[in-house]
Amino acid sequence: MADERAMDEVVTFTSDLIRIDTTNRGGGDCRERPAAEYAAARLAEAGLEPVLLERVPGRANVVARLEGTDPSADALLVHGHLDVVPAEAADWSVHPFSGEVRDGVVWGRGAVDMKNMDAMILAVVRAWAREGVRPRRDIVIAFTADEEASAEDGSGFLADRHAHLFEGCTEGVSESGAFTFHDGDGRQIYPIAAGERGTAWMRLTARGRAGHGSKVNRENAVTRLAAAITRIGEHQWPLRLTPTVRAALTELAAVYGIETDLSDVDTLLDKLGTAGKLVEATVRNSANPTMLDAGYKVNVIPGEAVARVDGRYLAGAEDEFRATMDRLTGPDVDWEFEHHEVALQAPVDSPTYLRMRSAVEEFAPEGHVVPYCMSGGTDAKQFSRLGITGYGFAPLKLPEGFDYQALFHGVDERVPVEALHFGVRVLDRFLRTA
Ligand SMILES: [Zn+2]
Repeated sequence: MADERAMDEVVTFTSDLIRIDTTNRGGGDCRERPAAEYAAARLAEAGLEPVLLERVPGRANVVARLEGTDPSADALLVHGHLDVVPAEAADWSVHPFSGEVRDGVVWGRGAVDMKNMDAMILAVVRAWAREGVRPRRDIVIAFTADEEASAEDGSGFLADRHAHLFEGCTEGVSESGAFTFHDGDGRQIYPIAAGERGTAWMRLTARGRAGHGSKVNRENAVTRLAAAITRIGEHQWPLRLTPTVRAALTELAAVYGIETDLSDVDTLLDKLGTAGKLVEATVRNSANPTMLDAGYKVNVIPGEAVARVDGRYLAGAEDEFRATMDRLTGPDVDWEFEHHEVALQAPVDSPTYLRMRSAVEEFAPEGHVVPYCMSGGTDAKQFSRLGITGYGFAPLKLPEGFDYQALFHGVDERVPVEALHFGVRVLDRFLRTA
């Protein structure tokens, strides 16, 4: 069991890490190094030998290995990113980089995404050092840069250039799972992520005939683009249930005592009510138009018009996604990936999944643990290139009214001290038994 000091440290570390501003504005505009040095120092104090790795100066990653007692066992990767998305101080009740602890709540950017988990990892391994605990498997700890942008300076760089540090790792755990989802009807659900949709950020280019705005023009690039964008935005994507999403629907239905009818998923989602929100974005591919750019004067028809579309596809449904985009864009509009990441799928009956589940159940006996698929992506995509199966497991017990999904990248991001304590206990239990 994690000790009292671990309970104090997790709060201090969360707060300290929030105070180190690691805002990632994209395009390389971020400096994680001070946070990386902070994390590395905390690991070194616990007897680990962390290494700092940078592709670009200032954008540091930290990797350390904790040797397990069973050298024949596969290693486990435990990772968290150090960067955060921007925060506008004027919108917040508390300064987003204050790390203030007020009325038992730690406030600031990164409080749930994901300096909380970074702090939990640090608190657990330090408690183990005090107690002389060694896990069964080797545990590789990685704190990464650049998760909130392309990951090129973070997990992507580590996977491509420092693969040897992850030798033997077959599975990984990181953000976006095992938090309390309150259904509003008294039930508490703990979704553990066992999959991610793939990322397909696309650039669409319509070409046409430039000319005077007062003339007849059947080859107007703006019209062509608008038509394609409308087709994409209104497209009804067919259901594509991955094994994880099937398991999520089946297990949620069991929690609610509803008959599982996977032939009519939309009705099932309706019956699940708010809990259906955990699954609804992952039962099909999606493509949302997000940016438009064309023209420079009202009486001039431009020769080209550009749009951007945020596409996401499920494991096994990528070819269909591409074919659908070809069809929806049509002959006059080209499309290409600007950013393209794989979809992930992890088993929900593996010993590791079952251990995560029982660790949560032990400390939240009133909760219902179910698997789910993330609608977006994490660093697990990059680490999957090393053959590492990723799970989302950053345990937090949240009181009702704390909408985890809304706090993610949201204003007034914050985390209760009690939630951090729960996280340390559950992570400690899981990692000891992993
Ligand atoms: Zn995150």
